[in-house]
Amino acid sequence: MNSVSNSIIYPNPRIVRFVSLSLAASWLVIVLLIGVFAFREITGSHYLDALIAPLGFLILILVVLSLFVGSTARCPECRCLLFKQVKSDLSMSARRPIFLSKWSLVVINIVRVRPFNCPNCNQEYTLK
Ligand SMILES: [Zn+2]
Repeated sequence: MNSVSNSIIYPNPRIVRFVSLSLAASWLVIVLLIGVFAFREITGSHYLDALIAPLGFLILILVVLSLFVGSTARCPECRCLLFKQVKSDLSMSARRPIFLSKWSLVVINIVRVRPFNCPNCNQEYTLK
């Protein structure tokens, strides 16, 4: 993974890892919740209804926690927030699939233990 020479080691790997994992977990729980609703629609059974409240609560906790911790995760180069939607599209590399927002790409790359780019200045970071 050291093949890219302009990559910088991100100074706070714990913070970005924590935010990424809790955001990824919340996406997973959202998928589970959709699955529960789909199960109810398809089978007409209310067998899994008891899961809706705890899953919803879990999503809330994960998202609030990610927002809270994520508000401290900044790019050392440009000082912008890593987990925030950036308006300008000028800095983004062509690697981004059209349906993914930049901050979610940061999440996905960190979860996959791959280098990630700042959504604002596009500086590449690796996690040690
Ligand atoms: Zn930056």
